[in-house]
Amino acid sequence: MTITPDFRFRRLRRSPVLRQIVREHHLRPEDLIMPIFVQEGIAEPVDIASMPGVQRFPESQLGGELRRLWQLGLRAAILFGVSDNKDSCGSDTWSDDGLMARCIRTAKAAVPDMLIISDNCFCEYTDHGHCGVVVEDDVDNDQTLTNLQAQVVTAARAGVDMIAPSGMMDGMIAAIREALDEDGYHHIPVMSYSTKFASAFYGPFRDAVDSNFKGSRNTYQMDPANGREALAESMQDEGEGADILMVKPGLAYLDVIANIRQHSNQPLAVYHVSGEYAMIKAAANAGVIDEKAVVLETMLAFKRAGCDLILTYYAEDLLKWLAEG
Ligand SMILES: [Zn+2]
Repeated sequence: MTITPDFRFRRLRRSPVLRQIVREHHLRPEDLIMPIFVQEGIAEPVDIASMPGVQRFPESQLGGELRRLWQLGLRAAILFGVSDNKDSCGSDTWSDDGLMARCIRTAKAAVPDMLIISDNCFCEYTDHGHCGVVVEDDVDNDQTLTNLQAQVVTAARAGVDMIAPSGMMDGMIAAIREALDEDGYHHIPVMSYSTKFASAFYGPFRDAVDSNFKGSRNTYQMDPANGREALAESMQDEGEGADILMVKPGLAYLDVIANIRQHSNQPLAVYHVSGEYAMIKAAANAGVIDEKAVVLETMLAFKRAGCDLILTYYAEDLLKWLAEG
């Protein structure tokens, strides 16, 4: 007996053009934000062992690297400093001669039209590796906010285009907005790492920033088990004035992205983190997956879940793949 379906979805899948014209989501070069690591005290780029294809750059090569990426079509980069100048509170971050301020000035001079974002935290600038001031074995929220205010004003003075606080301190967006506005930086937007989980997927990032941090960030980053709290965290930051929200990591948290998308009209970013990058690389290098296809599928999953922007170490490859069509 022949069975006749009521409706035939396959009608719109018959040719590449048909599939293209009904495609719901697309990845564009301007969706991508590339993380860039800049290390003090090196003369040549250093490979990051756990993240094949990713390097730490010396300050002297930051401008050239950004110009190269601009030519490839990159429109936004987020800078991470790997500092030699560590102390208990991360004071290098609010020095006008500190690593981040210098990197911002270098970047803006090299590629004035590229959107230069600063990752604003303390963990790469503190000798204990925590994301703020430690009091009695825990990060003191409110002291850290005061330092964060100094840090973001320094970044703004250096010419940064957007602030991106990643420390998951309570009240951080309100504190940042107040400090920026008070110093006349009303126009500088804030992209909050608004829902950031205490994730095992960050492993290779520690290698990238040369951190020997052995502790835990569980008292400030979120429990991966909590979906309702994940929404509340981002909505709180929106209420405090965050211009762009973010979920970090990505693929294991698509439900969180979709939920925030339903509750917020702000632009939403996702951080496709080091462990996610390293897993795809390892599988590709083992010859068990098609790297380009898997990365493009992953990026579309972020878009489908509701993201506008994607921070990814695959940005350069993606720009080349998108140009190939
Ligand atoms: Zn941090």
